[in-house]
Amino acid sequence: MGEQTDEPIDFLAGDRMIPRRGGIGNNLRRIHINKFLGGMKMADYSRRMFLGSAGLAAGLAAVEASTAAAAEQAEPARGGDDSLPEFRYEIEKSHGKVVGGNSAREATVRQLPISVGLAGVSMRLEPGGMRELHWHAIAAEWAFMIEGRCRTTVIAPDGSSEINDFNPGDVWYFPRGHGHSLQGLGPGTCHFVLVFDSGSFSEFGTFSVTDWLAHTPKNIVAQNLGLPVDIVEKLPNHEVYFARGKVPEPIPDMPHRRGLVSPAFTHRYQLMEQSPSGEFQGGKEWRVSSREFPIAQSITGVILDLEPGALRELHWHPNADEWQYIIKGEYEIGVFGSGGRARHETFKPGDVGYIPRGYGHYIHNKSKETGRILIAFNTGEYQEISLSTWLASNPDTLLTENLELDRKPVDRLPKERIFIAPERPPIP
Ligand code: MN
Ligand code: MN
Repeated sequence: MGEQTDEPIDFLAGDRMIPRRGGIGNNLRRIHINKFLGGMKMADYSRRMFLGSAGLAAGLAAVEASTAAAAEQAEPARGGDDSLPEFRYEIEKSHGKVVGGNSAREATVRQLPISVGLAGVSMRLEPGGMRELHWHAIAAEWAFMIEGRCRTTVIAPDGSSEINDFNPGDVWYFPRGHGHSLQGLGPGTCHFVLVFDSGSFSEFGTFSVTDWLAHTPKNIVAQNLGLPVDIVEKLPNHEVYFARGKVPEPIPDMPHRRGLVSPAFTHRYQLMEQSPSGEFQGGKEWRVSSREFPIAQSITGVILDLEPGALRELHWHPNADEWQYIIKGEYEIGVFGSGGRARHETFKPGDVGYIPRGYGHYIHNKSKETGRILIAFNTGEYQEISLSTWLASNPDTLLTENLELDRKPVDRLPKERIFIAPERPPIP
């Protein structure tokens, strides 16, 4: 695994493809796309890739990423049908970017080519460590705080701004293009997972304030900020990315440049302070969509706790891709991609998983402890169809014929949604 450079993957702005460093020529693109398609049957990928230029560009980014991914993949996973692409990536084993106690490790289409719909980052900030002021041109940012505390600042185009502190279990959401910063509050390092609603988004290609000012003529910056040029010359001459500073004052005492104009919708949601959205024999689910957290228009988040041996039943999501980060426990995750294609992988803490929109899947806790998985969808409106509800919605006679079963076992099929099935001794 080579040193991860700051070379960003190709970026999209609207439907235009902005060539970045390391762009490859058209011929090469064509070769790669053939190779890419050769490994997959015509399914969602190719359809999505050819549905308009944005989709095409995203597909191309995925294609370009595939070779780099081979080198970066910490451990090529095995199991199941090789014609279905790899859907697991060991994000915590990647090199990422590390400055002191601050670090960022990412999973984009470069590392996990299947993940065209969502990208993610595992980030840690030391007390006072700051992810500097920046924005993203192509993706909204959703986050879940796993451990420790941090503070965010954010500004919206209407001039409203917010400063929030986050504790374990809290979620934030910044709409695409809104300027923001993050800072560790201590004590100890905080750890959170960021999710972006585009697999082409790279955390190492954001629009940072220092990078911008360093690449603007000094007289322009001086005129803009009303500063003498000799002061402007002291600004950082490169992108700082992680700034290292002191733990800031508590919010009420913290002076800021202008009075805060509160936004209509807050950027903070205390997910784990809520009652679970679902409690089952075998596990619990906490879910936050735009219904509970109105600003989060493009990402729904879930924390799923599965008891030992419990199964999140077979299901699919008609309207969204699914991105996973394993916080605790060991799982078998199975994906079904039509046409006899299926793949089953073992997931451990620190692994990222990706289920394309519409693909059938299940999650089985193989460990002896209650596990926890962070799941995110690239939609503000959560949808799913579970196997149990689907079958229960059909006449018994249809099921006997379709499944080639006698009436007796069909009578035993679930009559309502299972969602989580607890561990059971073998049924006689
Ligand atoms: Mn960001
Ligand atoms: Mn799912």
